[in-house]
Amino acid sequence: MPRFNKRVTSLDIVLFRLVQHCNLQKFLDNDNIAKFYYVLTMSFMKALVKKSPVDGLWLEQMPIPVIGTNDVLIKITKTAICGTDLHIYHWDEWSQSTIKPPLIIGHEFVGVVEEIGLGVTHYKKGDIVSGEGHITCGYCRNCRAGLRHLCHKTIGIGIQRDGAFAEYMTLPEGNVWPVHNDIDTDVAAFFDPLGNAVHCALSFSMVAEDVLITGAGPIGCMATSICKHLGARNVVVSDINDYRLELAAKMGADRIVNIQNEKIEDCFSELKISSGFDIGLEMSGNPSALQDLVRTMYHGGKIALLGILPNDTLVNWDDIIFKGLRIKGIYGREMFETWYKMTQLIRGGLDVLPIITHKFNAEDFQQAFEVIDTGQCGKVILNWD
Ligand code: NAD
Ligand code: ZN
Repeated sequence: MPRFNKRVTSLDIVLFRLVQHCNLQKFLDNDNIAKFYYVLTMSFMKALVKKSPVDGLWLEQMPIPVIGTNDVLIKITKTAICGTDLHIYHWDEWSQSTIKPPLIIGHEFVGVVEEIGLGVTHYKKGDIVSGEGHITCGYCRNCRAGLRHLCHKTIGIGIQRDGAFAEYMTLPEGNVWPVHNDIDTDVAAFFDPLGNAVHCALSFSMVAEDVLITGAGPIGCMATSICKHLGARNVVVSDINDYRLELAAKMGADRIVNIQNEKIEDCFSELKISSGFDIGLEMSGNPSALQDLVRTMYHGGKIALLGILPNDTLVNWDDIIFKGLRIKGIYGREMFETWYKMTQLIRGGLDVLPIITHKFNAEDFQQAFEVIDTGQCGKVILNWD
């Protein structure tokens, strides 16, 4: 597999690709002609690509991206697979309307800085970094107000531009996050979804509250640990998948409920919950889970909606209105307060490592996606080293 030699810079790549494009090789002297061929053969990397608009992904040789003035070139070491990647793999309706192949997918990653653009001031070669995959415009009202997670022009890596499932990726310096020495790089590989869970959990005060989390996927399980860490009294987690419910129990759930076998409110007397949940985190994207939530909330309860619900989802509006429920939509992570908080939560003892159930080499990506398809997994990591 060709490796990116450290003497080859983005400038070399741009220059020699230009030379090739304009057919100017004949003007190069002997030293440079050798470098020309070296750069052209060495400037490729392996990457997981959505090559064409059909089911599947392909491990391909792709050109190593070149950095702009304010970009950082990251040598990816580990990535984690998100449900979104699975949607792209299977080329579902959402992918068909959103993704334009060919595209390198993936947005959960950790890596090492390989090269920096001329304008980059906060990073150097060798730094361990992850990064925010939502690239915002910087100029809209919300960006200027410091509310970048509410930018209406957000571009997603691995969705609208090439992503992290590759040996190298570029990212604007402002999106790069330095990984603290205390953080396990396995965990840094999924800071992105951990940030979704932290963003939801920190939306409301958790201390002494009874919390219902619908959906024991990786994000629901991580949210379970976070809510307990933040001082919730009871965390109840519902799902239809026993493997995942067991994982939620391992991550600190006081009670797990398989809604196929029992009703959520059946656990109220056992947990001494008198009138319903104070806080609800919807993390399944399933309409019936939202119905369970609004039905079992106490008056004045607060709900965070992270799961992506179908647009025709029905709820009992009487519950929402007459119980005075407050509902907050959650998109991504707050930039970059969520990143700061998740770093400090982990440094303060929050343990999310049990969510990792499988690790594969990037070459074995098919196996990794097959495991995710079964639902018998937590977080699945791909190694790129
Ligand atoms: P996941 O799909 O791995 O997990 C969802 C879980 O919900 C599964 O375990 C499934 O069995 C369970 N489920 C299905 N029906 C249920 C029901 N009726 N009641 C309770 N549980 C039920 O997803 P994830 O990666 O953990 O992410 C959670 C959700 O958040 C997904 O819907 C995802 O698309 C969404 N998401 C949103 C954002 C955002 O920015 N808003 C970001 C990332 C993920
Ligand atoms: Zn903006």
